[in-house]
Order: sequence, then structure tokens, then C-alpha cells
Amino acid sequence: MKLSLKKTHIAEIIEHAKRDFPNEACGLLAGKGRKVSKVYRMSNTERGGMRYSMALKEQFDAARDMRSQNMEIVGIYHSHPNVRPYPSFRDIQRAMHPECSYVIVSLINGMPEVRSFRIIKGMVTEEEIDAG
Ligand SMILES: [Zn+2]
Repeated sequence: MKLSLKKTHIAEIIEHAKRDFPNEACGLLAGKGRKVSKVYRMSNTERGGMRYSMALKEQFDAARDMRSQNMEIVGIYHSHPNVRPYPSFRDIQRAMHPECSYVIVSLINGMPEVRSFRIIKGMVTEEEIDAG
């Protein structure tokens, strides 16, 4: 299954990652099925490390907004300021949503790279991003 993510959404995620550098940026991708139609930036409540937690109130607000627009969570994104875009051990341990895409944007070497994964019972599979 491909993740359908528009170029404008990819640009928004990269911009968010750059803005929150050197901390990790995180957020939600909402839409229908495998198609993303909206990016929700979340505040990372953790600082100074290779980790992220999304602000709870913002998650509730985003969930309410999604319901009102008949959307659901398609994916969860976060940035890797200094390492490659592959789920870390911690990312895999904390991946509780097999139905979600886990999108990671890496800023390593100043070359933004966005990749998407499914994480099911600790098994990581990369999925194609359809940026059409
Ligand atoms: Zn990570």
C-alpha cells in the first residue's frame, strides 16, 4: 500500500522539522484511507534528545477537528534532526498503531529526506510515498 502524500504536505513537514531543529518535530497526518489531506503540527513536549511526545491537548483538538471534517488519522510523523530516516529502537517500541503510517523526515547533512514505514508488532516495512 502506498501512502498518498502531496508535495505541499511533504514541504510542510520538512519546514516544521527545520523550524524545530535541533529538537524533533512531530505531528499527525489526517485524511481518508491511505490519502493524506491535512497536516497537524504538534508541539513536542520533550526537549533535547532523540525523542518526542505530542502535546495531549493538541492531540484532542486535532482529533475533534478531524471528526468534524470526516477525516481519520492516516499517519504520524516526526523528524530525525541528526540521523537517517529509519525508525529507532524507541520508535519501534512505541509504535502502537499498525493502521498508521510512520513518516520520518531526516535533516541529516542538510539534505531533507522523507520516508514512510508501517510498524506492526515490531516489524518495520517501508512503504512507498505517492507524492503525485
Ligand atoms: Zn524517531
